[in-house]
Amino acid sequence: MSIVAIVGRPNVGKSTLFNRMIQRREAITDSVSGVTRDRHYGRSDWNGKEFSLIDTGGYVIGSDDVFETEIDQQVELAIDEADAILFMVNAEEGITPMDEDVAQLLRKVTKPVFLVVNKVDNNKREQDAYEFYNLGLGEYFSISSMNGSGTGDLLDEVVKVLPDTVEEKKDDLPRFAVVGRPNAGKSSFINALIGEDRYIVTDIAGTTRDSIDTKYNRFGFEFNLVDTAGIRRKKKVREDLEFYSVMRSVRAIEHCDVCILMLDATRGFDGQVQNIFWLAERNRKGIVVLVNKWDLVDKETNTAKEFEAKIRREMEPFTDVPIVFISVLNKQRIHKAIETAVAVYKNRSKKIKTSQLNETLLPLIENYPPPSLKGKFVKIKFITQLPTPQPQFAFFCNLPQYVRDAYKRYLENQLREHFDFHGVPISVYMRKK
Ligand code: GDP
Ligand code: GDP
Repeated sequence: MSIVAIVGRPNVGKSTLFNRMIQRREAITDSVSGVTRDRHYGRSDWNGKEFSLIDTGGYVIGSDDVFETEIDQQVELAIDEADAILFMVNAEEGITPMDEDVAQLLRKVTKPVFLVVNKVDNNKREQDAYEFYNLGLGEYFSISSMNGSGTGDLLDEVVKVLPDTVEEKKDDLPRFAVVGRPNAGKSSFINALIGEDRYIVTDIAGTTRDSIDTKYNRFGFEFNLVDTAGIRRKKKVREDLEFYSVMRSVRAIEHCDVCILMLDATRGFDGQVQNIFWLAERNRKGIVVLVNKWDLVDKETNTAKEFEAKIRREMEPFTDVPIVFISVLNKQRIHKAIETAVAVYKNRSKKIKTSQLNETLLPLIENYPPPSLKGKFVKIKFITQLPTPQPQFAFFCNLPQYVRDAYKRYLENQLREHFDFHGVPISVYMRKK
């Protein structure tokens, strides 16, 4: 999947454009139960080409007093990780020093950069936009994120430069991606997994776009570790940037089956970790949470239990996720961690027979039918699992539009209770029959 990043200083209209671009799909995904939105990461498609879209500005806290260096860092990350960059400026305000600064970074880039002059709501602004030639980035696209004018022409050009990605899968082994904040212990974990210091930090030219699957056979399990050049490369960036790990994880997560989300026990399930968690959930990937550095925590009887409960509260509504406490340093429960990831992989590829689904669920539905809405009664007739890589279930009924999210969650919970989808986001659709 290609990544398109929107960069630019605050208030130029990045999130307005972002929302416009993902709107159509959001409407679709929202009808699925249990989907939580990340307001800064989404899928979009145009002319049949699908891509991930990231609003880099969305990850800045307190957007009114962003430091110039912070914008620079974001732009650099976007340059590293994205396939195309939309650099947005504001026709209302003209060129600012911060714009010049960003332009300077972008002029050196070989990746496609689109200069997007926003807030061109009328003809007068169209003329004001000329001044942006002075940024030295060539042609620009004038748009109005607000009313949508010009955005079609922009997208036509953007999707032209995106590579055609064909998702190839070489074998049926689980593909794991180890993700998390910097310093959580990911490299140490991977080293422990592969048994030697083979996790070399190198910058391999030409591999930026490709994810690299490496096959391992450890502890009696065979699996592929998904790595991306983006993750390998260790650059001096401000790692406390809110969106650092998200940006770094997007590609790996999109390529994996199971996301091994590692966190540092001394830092907890903080904002950055949550962002990655939602990213994995939105991509409908299996998830295992590893709480690493458990050796550093003073433990009393209920410490692990309380720690776990706290994480689960943050995960709501998707809480059916394994949490394993490990210490890579002491080689504690590393085997358990992999075993759990393999189990999640199996849950994700599980196919439940239609007969089994119906025998189990229809009586439950009979006992607790969807509440009537506006005097209408919904009758669910049969259930089937869709032939998708991740678990999706279609409930055929007379009035799909009358089934509320709360009831879909009930159905999801029943599926979880009876068929074990621990660690796996599942989708419940109501279909007309
Ligand atoms: P961001 O900080 O770059 O994400 O900017 P926002 O998307 O939050 O937009 C900042 C402000 O500009 C908001 O008040 C938007 O309503 C407004 N805005 C965004 N796009 C346009 C546009 O095309 N025309 C006009 N007039 N205002 C816009
Ligand atoms: P990464 O940035 O996520 O790849 O993290 P690293 O693997 O480079 O680890 C960051 C630091 O945490 C290193 O100094 C590790 O030695 C340390 N570390 C990793 N795992 C553990 C652990 O289980 N316990 C303790 N105490 N330290 C750890």
